[in-house]
Amino acid sequence: MANSFLKVSCRDCGAESTIFSRATSVIACGVCSATLTKPSGGKAELVGCNVVEALE
Ligand SMILES: [Zn+2]
Repeated sequence: MANSFLKVSCRDCGAESTIFSRATSVIACGVCSATLTKPSGGKAELVGCNVVEALE
């Protein structure tokens, strides 16, 4: 449960990406390069995207 993947959509361009919920690096949108998540306290903090769905 703690180690899951999230499907997210970029708030700027709407592109969907799959990210690791505990990503330890900044993840940028592959389309517009907006910052989607940054690491915070051992898990990814969503800063520029919305969760579409949680994946197993
Ligand atoms: Zn984008």
